[in-house]
Amino acid sequence: MPHTSLSTAVSASATDHLLATDPCSRPYVERYALIDTHTHFDEAVFVQDRDVQIRQASDAGVQHLVLVGYLRRYFDRMWQTQAQINTFNYPGLSQQEVSKPLQAHVALGLHPVYIDEHTVDDLQVMTDGLNQRNDIIAIGEIGLDTFTPQLKLPEVLAKQQRYFIAQLDMAVSHELPVLLHIRKAHAETLKILKQHPYDAHRLGGIAHSFSGGEQEAKAFVALGFRLGVTGQVTNPNAKKLRRALTAAVQQYGLSCLVIETDCPDMLPVMCQPDLSMTAANNLETSHSQPTRNTPANLPHVLATLSELFDIALADLAEQLWRNSCEALKVQWDYTASH
Ligand SMILES: [Zn+2]
Repeated sequence: MPHTSLSTAVSASATDHLLATDPCSRPYVERYALIDTHTHFDEAVFVQDRDVQIRQASDAGVQHLVLVGYLRRYFDRMWQTQAQINTFNYPGLSQQEVSKPLQAHVALGLHPVYIDEHTVDDLQVMTDGLNQRNDIIAIGEIGLDTFTPQLKLPEVLAKQQRYFIAQLDMAVSHELPVLLHIRKAHAETLKILKQHPYDAHRLGGIAHSFSGGEQEAKAFVALGFRLGVTGQVTNPNAKKLRRALTAAVQQYGLSCLVIETDCPDMLPVMCQPDLSMTAANNLETSHSQPTRNTPANLPHVLATLSELFDIALADLAEQLWRNSCEALKVQWDYTASH
């Protein structure tokens, strides 16, 4: 199994038992309170069974999640999803069993990858939303992305920069944290952040699904950002990522990390279809295997970090909770294992 080493860090017997039936089962028996700081749980892939997924997330200890914006046309879908989650009544469970129901929060933002689609009208919609509502938790996801040749074109990158700065301005005027999306553009992003009045030490903020190197990781933390860690870290081959996180933690301590699923993306490695089995049987098998990440898989990120940094699950869960509250500038009470 790809995560045999993980099993040794947690309760081995319980883990083996759980894994025997479902490789995606929680990697420990306890239930730790968790915050999923970055999700796209409003995506269409969850329409069919979101109620089941809400229940499983709650069961896995996830008490808060952030629905993160990327295109204006989906802003309404986020509010609807938030309402569905926050009014969910957990059929069949007593009030005591659901003492901490899952709570959803909305961040509005225009994502750099979709830069061609954004208009000044969309920025206005965000400004109006921020002026009219007081329940927008953050601005995001925003940032720079030069992953493809198209995104790297000078005029495209210039538009990305304009929209990034315009949204940083909103964060400053509304005193909200930002959720950063940065891919192959860490130096450019740092340059903008250093010149902008946005102060992450004061307003919080997360470099979501962090993918930079060691120096970049430390540079974002030095500016006051937390590094968002996804299921990517569960892959033992994610050496660059693990080195970057380790370097940041060595210098700044565990307070620089938060966790996220980024669902439906970033499926933890232990939840991915077993390709060797697929080859041994037939291709049909792969279609029935899960390929969609969900908030209920967040414990795998906790368990991997617990092993990587040699810290007890309970202590790490509490630390990450505190970090998330500081990054999002909220005051949510932590309940120990429940
Ligand atoms: Zn995202």
